[in-house]
Amino acid sequence: MIFIKKIGIDLGTCNSVVFTPQKGVVLQEPSVVAIALNENRILAVGQGAKEMTGRTPDTIRIYRPLREGVIADYRITEAMLRYFIRKAVKTFWFLKPELLIGVPAGITSTEKRAVIEAGMAAGAKAVYVAKEPILAAIGAGIPINSCSGHMIIDIGGGTSEVAVISLGGIVTCYSLRVAGDKMDQAISDYIKKKYNLAIGEQTAEEIKIKIGTALPDKEEKEIEIRGRDLISGLPQNIKINSREICEAISDRLVEIIQVVKAVLRETPPELSADIMDKGMIISGGGALLRNIDGFITQAIGVPCFIAEEPLLCVAKGTGVVLENLDVYKKSIMIKK
Ligand code: ADP
Ligand code: MG
Repeated sequence: MIFIKKIGIDLGTCNSVVFTPQKGVVLQEPSVVAIALNENRILAVGQGAKEMTGRTPDTIRIYRPLREGVIADYRITEAMLRYFIRKAVKTFWFLKPELLIGVPAGITSTEKRAVIEAGMAAGAKAVYVAKEPILAAIGAGIPINSCSGHMIIDIGGGTSEVAVISLGGIVTCYSLRVAGDKMDQAISDYIKKKYNLAIGEQTAEEIKIKIGTALPDKEEKEIEIRGRDLISGLPQNIKINSREICEAISDRLVEIIQVVKAVLRETPPELSADIMDKGMIISGGGALLRNIDGFITQAIGVPCFIAEEPLLCVAKGTGVVLENLDVYKKSIMIKK
């Protein structure tokens, strides 16, 4: 049976990661597709397509086929999935693989079916789906099948998901449509309002990644950015510092904190005691925002830790599950 290919996929709103138990992470690319409209043809997928964002003529359209973690454009998701699988696994042509795809915990059954169909249409022999908070927890090294409670906070591009896990299942969970993308939006709104400068989506994200912080820095960081002056209409450079970015995103971060608090309020007391003891784990790209751990620890009063390689937790979790299907069978759903 060792010839059966098993592939795990974190099909994220921002980034997709493909994982195989033999090789680990074999692909990590933005979930973006560029289409030439007049020929109805795919021009680029992944990094190449993301770089075109905000720079296209009207004959080219950039799609992010997943919105808030679920499939918004089925046809393009399927094409993207097929492309990623082929790129990641060269021998795919001969052997149909088994796929395990991570889905948001709050997904409806129709949405789940769409993911499964996209996987089958992309050429899988069987498709399993598992909930992302569970996969993220496994990938972060949390022993999810133990009878102790664990909290995972996954801050992605489109959604933040907060879940309490015990005995292999989700006990309480809440998904919020505020995450990295909304932070980028907040940064661009802030700069528009304060400096009358319009900046693109990619610039906003770059600012966040370079100098963004959840708590004010002791030493301020500063960068120069370029945009279009809204009054003169001309290109202009300005300097912006980390304190300003911290202020720009603070409302978004407070929204995430409120969800963490709401989940804790609904968590059975035995499990909250466990969480108090062991702390909470943050995964997803948002875990890379500087000082996010300190910010959450301060706001909630419970220690908070960043998972190792937070962008890869869900994908690593798929690898662990694929290799131990028996152990995790109650955490997955199967379609052959
Ligand atoms: P998804 O699961 O929705 O695809 P990811 O977990 O891949 O999302 O996280 C993507 C988000 O993480 C994006 O909004 C991206 O801007 C953000 N991100 C990535 N690196 C950093 C960083 N160093 N600091 C802050 N945010 C980051
Ligand atoms: Mg994710």
